[in-house]
Amino acid sequence: MKIAMIGTGYVGLVSGVCFSDFGHEVTCVDKDPRKVDMLVGGKVPIYEPGLDVLMAKNVAAGRLSFTGDLKAAVDGADAVFIAVGTPTRRGDGHADLTYVMAAAEEIAEALSGYAVVVTKSTVPVGTNAKVREVIEKAAPGKDFDVASNPEFLREGAAIDDFMRPDRVVVGITSERAEKVMGEIYRPLFLREFPILYTDLETAEMIKYAANAFLATKITFINEIAGLCEKVGADVKQVSKGMGLDGRIGNKFLHAGPGYGGSCFPKDTQALARIGQDFAAPMQIVETVIKVNEEVKRRMIEKVMDLCEGSVNGKTVAVLGVTFKPNTDDMRDAPALTIVPALVGGGAKVRVVDPQGRREGEQLLPGVTWLEDAYAAVEGADVVVILTEWNEFRALDLPRLANSMNHARMADLRNVYSPVDAEAAGFEAYSCVGR
Ligand code: NAD
Repeated sequence: MKIAMIGTGYVGLVSGVCFSDFGHEVTCVDKDPRKVDMLVGGKVPIYEPGLDVLMAKNVAAGRLSFTGDLKAAVDGADAVFIAVGTPTRRGDGHADLTYVMAAAEEIAEALSGYAVVVTKSTVPVGTNAKVREVIEKAAPGKDFDVASNPEFLREGAAIDDFMRPDRVVVGITSERAEKVMGEIYRPLFLREFPILYTDLETAEMIKYAANAFLATKITFINEIAGLCEKVGADVKQVSKGMGLDGRIGNKFLHAGPGYGGSCFPKDTQALARIGQDFAAPMQIVETVIKVNEEVKRRMIEKVMDLCEGSVNGKTVAVLGVTFKPNTDDMRDAPALTIVPALVGGGAKVRVVDPQGRREGEQLLPGVTWLEDAYAAVEGADVVVILTEWNEFRALDLPRLANSMNHARMADLRNVYSPVDAEAAGFEAYSCVGR
């Protein structure tokens, strides 16, 4: 199959590279010339483990290329995937579909023969139908179908998620489109990964419902963690005891500083807005959004409490700012709420993150960046573990404690335990739900 992938972000680039690895001929398009230059030069503009090697392999095999020229990429393609951003629209919480619709218009002009125009971006119910309208209006008479193919990959484990998905969801309206989509995903089908064909609206809904459910699960355990702290229970064991129940499952049950990232915050907000628009309020999701904000505020209080109520003049070392490990993505990371509150409270904040600095430098003004956890913590009054990168999971705690002005730790990912911290000589240790 000949595929054009519009957008080379976390989803578009990973999907494009993986499709080429399936044996398809893929051209990835981006309107950001800086990204295209990097990609043409063999560099990966984002941090995603394993992507550089897989990309180089498929470029060398002649199956994968990059361009800024959408028309050339779409010409003769069997399928054109839209994988552009759908951020929260300023002011009202809706998904901003400007990029999707602009891409659809450009694709319309460029279509040269029958093709399936596939939306991979996360979009509200009804968007694929609108994409069809936009194309029909911009270029009447063109031979095409639309399909909805939401993506479920996780940053940090994106290649494995794409290559070994729990399921592939494809919304279609014609047998012709089903055939093309079936051919594209055939390598997965042969390995018996389930492919679920639905109508367009159902496919669109599955993505929002799945993300909102996962955000709810995280928020549920975060709220339980708050109660555990009051009643003297240990949330880690509560999670374990709950998660061993096959009906519940152990994933997404780790208490922490609140969910963040490029999907859950914006997708929960968009789903809440869709519910309001259709007079079917998503009351659980609306509450989840509210509770998640409270969870983040509670983390700030934890750090303040460790410093006798104020961080003014204190040196705070923050380990990790990306929304989770193994990504450089800072979008809606809890750090963007917590770190500015510490800076605003008068703290001198030092930050270390293995991949977050490039993005974080613009988003977190007033902090000092360091390359190494031990250097950041030396002489500090409190250390905050905000993202559980492997680098921060096996720190020499006695060395840390010894080097600090005040040996205090806010372990917001429950990496260590009160016993570890006390044995290492920490004078105070605070974690989540224990
Ligand atoms: P991103 O912001 O990283 O990348 C989007 C890319 O599209 C950018 O490089 C941008 O320059 C490019 N672009 C925008 N308009 C274009 C156009 N007209 N022509 C060519 N290129 C264009 O976004 P992302 O994180 O990859 O997310 C893309 C979509 O996938 C979103 O809807 C998101 O909700 C969804 N999604 C994301 C993830 C994730 O983990 N990031 C997971 C599942 C689904």
